[in-house]
Amino acid sequence: MKFTAKQIDLENLVRPNIRAMSAYSSARSEFSGSAAVFLDANESPFDNLYNRYPDPLQKDARSKIATLKGVSLTQIFLGNGSDEAIDLLIRAFCEPGKHNVAIVGPTYGMYRICAEVNNVATREVLLNVDYTLDAERVLSAADGDTRIIFLCSPNNPTGNQLDKAEILHILKNFDGIVVIDEAYIDFSDSNGFVSHLDEYANLVILQTFSKAWGLAGIRAGVAIASPGIISILDKIKYPYNISTLTQNILLEQLNEAAKVERVKTIRQQRTWLLEQLAGLRVVKKVFTTDANFILVKVNEANIVYTHLLSRGIVVRNRSNVPLCENALRLTVGTQQENQLLINALAEL
Ligand SMILES: *Cc1c(COP(=O)(O)O)cnc(C)c1O
Repeated sequence: MKFTAKQIDLENLVRPNIRAMSAYSSARSEFSGSAAVFLDANESPFDNLYNRYPDPLQKDARSKIATLKGVSLTQIFLGNGSDEAIDLLIRAFCEPGKHNVAIVGPTYGMYRICAEVNNVATREVLLNVDYTLDAERVLSAADGDTRIIFLCSPNNPTGNQLDKAEILHILKNFDGIVVIDEAYIDFSDSNGFVSHLDEYANLVILQTFSKAWGLAGIRAGVAIASPGIISILDKIKYPYNISTLTQNILLEQLNEAAKVERVKTIRQQRTWLLEQLAGLRVVKKVFTTDANFILVKVNEANIVYTHLLSRGIVVRNRSNVPLCENALRLTVGTQQENQLLINALAEL
């Protein structure tokens, strides 16, 4: 038995209706074992590779992911993108019209959107002006109805990692769910918080296959958490949330060595871009980054954005976001793409 620094009362955190319900029991989940004749699910009997429903619990894909992440199978939830996990966490723990979630802006937009869809209020605390996290300010924004705190590290759109001691302070002192979204963790020097899962029963880590793994098109992301939290997500997800195609591609494409190579190239390009950007007249500030994008401040973001468009280059204009005035978010591309970006910016 491992020492656990933080326990939570999951039974009381989960919405009562969800605690009380039983999951939909699909034909494929009621049967386990081997059989030759499947007349249980009203599928077409004609084999075209896809006539059968996928495995509802994605056992093979989850096992492979669990091994990759160094956690147990029961700690993995596989979603249709990590966006699915964000939505399910809110639906599992937040009573519409009553509970709220806390977010730390500027950050990824989906936490607020998923909360809004579910009629759950969002309490937004801003990062400090240098984009560092003030844990005490986040904790004081939370009240007895705050069920989830969303942290994103490395943070989108600022690019920096949040201070580990500040995150730990929140994990220790908040009696609800703490989500750490590690969509960009592979591009950083940090191992993230997976090794802390055994200490904090309230910790949920989100990771995705959309960025470093290069699989945005298949829609797959994971929530890694205690088996208790994972079984709640499994209970409320759509039975067949991950298609056979996506499960097969995960089994085929999750090659750690290939990912490491791609990440290395992106990081080299990131270093090159950081140097080039710092020498441009139009760029007023380049923020440090642990991700595959760079936030830059320019004089007139809208003008720069439109100029880049005229050169056929699309970047993300974040200039309407608090603390991101006149900021553009630039994704690191191929060497050729990055050169085109620098050329276009140098014209200003
Ligand atoms: C891109 C991104 C994701 C990924 O979402 P998917 O639904 O897995 O594609 C999640 N969180 C953040 C902060 C992101 O930037």
